[in-house]
Amino acid sequence: MKALILALTLALTGTAHAQDAATAAALRDRALTDPTAWQLVESLTTDIGPRPVGSPQMARARDWAVARLTALGFQNIKVEEFAKPSWHRGPESARIVAPYPMKLNILGLGRSPATPAEGIEAEVAVFRTYADLLAAPQGSLAGKIAVVNQSMARTQDGSGYGAINPARTAGPVEAAKRGALAYLVRSLSTGDSNQPHTGAATYPADAPHIPAAALGVPDADHLERLAARGRVRVRLHMAPTVDANSVAWNISGEVIGSERPQEIVVIGGHLDSWDPSPGAHDDAAGIAITTAAARLIAGLPRRPRRTVRVVMWGSEETGGSETAYAAAHKDEAIVVASEADFGGDRAWALRLPPGSREHPVMATAANVLAPLRIFVDTLPATSGGADVAGLKAAGVPVFNFRQDGSRYFDLHHSADDTLDKIDRAQLNQNVAAWASLVYLIADSDIDFRALGAAAK
Ligand code: ZN
Ligand code: ZN
Repeated sequence: MKALILALTLALTGTAHAQDAATAAALRDRALTDPTAWQLVESLTTDIGPRPVGSPQMARARDWAVARLTALGFQNIKVEEFAKPSWHRGPESARIVAPYPMKLNILGLGRSPATPAEGIEAEVAVFRTYADLLAAPQGSLAGKIAVVNQSMARTQDGSGYGAINPARTAGPVEAAKRGALAYLVRSLSTGDSNQPHTGAATYPADAPHIPAAALGVPDADHLERLAARGRVRVRLHMAPTVDANSVAWNISGEVIGSERPQEIVVIGGHLDSWDPSPGAHDDAAGIAITTAAARLIAGLPRRPRRTVRVVMWGSEETGGSETAYAAAHKDEAIVVASEADFGGDRAWALRLPPGSREHPVMATAANVLAPLRIFVDTLPATSGGADVAGLKAAGVPVFNFRQDGSRYFDLHHSADDTLDKIDRAQLNQNVAAWASLVYLIADSDIDFRALGAAAK
């Protein structure tokens, strides 16, 4: 029965598919030399700079987004404000005080509390792995600064990050539960630079809160070697502040569908970034890839049947935009959603919503993507990105382009995430992939929900 329906669909829509396949291939090829994505990354990183939520730069990024979407011809441009308490880095420093003085390269973790004004000076307890810290008995870290020095694996798909992420996010609270005064974690980095990599930590209301910072990788190794030789004392100062009353914005523009405008394909990236760099890979690249792809679709002689909406989510790094977005758009007919948030290096695979891989439109997509050296993964998408997680939880199907993450975590959340690390050819390969796939979905009647239900 399923095969018969598929055969019928193919016969009825075969001509449309041939036209769409040719249009998608033309979009793909045009994207490879289109300057828009590069211009967007260059401008967002240079004109606006680092974009932490609650900062004046973030307000300027909002205005930049509206101006760019307008200039690129997007329709129905919206700025959706939501409440978002923000964390602001203050002066911070760390140094070894004994057995000899030495500056340590640190970056406080997002949401960390401040140290007392005079700082915290204590002996360190170094753990080679996060599991070793978790195995430490209650009270065993009383009066100490806990240090976890677990290294991160370099992988093409970036899975090494997910594996070690709890060391940063949950480490501070776990160390505090065991009595620690402060927490230092080896940067979640695949590089060997002494530039620390920040990121958010999690501080549940019912748990003890201690200051926490990321250490440069060589400094973390240094502390481990030194602590193996005897007692090491470290002094830590951190003075971050919190603004409980700040706001953030999800900003969007559309290519309105020619036949079924109420059916929407949602794509985008996140506009906010951490503060040590202009966030070229995280996530100016994602903003640029998806905006440039939608812009190419808008430039076609005939707009696709469904609406393509580009969203620039306004608070990914410390959360907030996904719930705000899902709540504000819960009644819309969102066909599928996906966020580009894995830098600007090349895509190598596509994961589709469950049950859709064999559909003729997706078979066409696979064929159009093949010359870009992108294959359709046999595994379905399990995530479409952090900012569409709220939509996904509400039942919206998601897809995901898998990008080469081999060097992403050398740069991610550090001062090294700068424009010179963006490879134009790889950036445009992503634009080509997004433009052709999104066009095919938007100009079709593919129903990912029905296909997903049938696959169960
Ligand atoms: Zn990101
Ligand atoms: Zn990030």
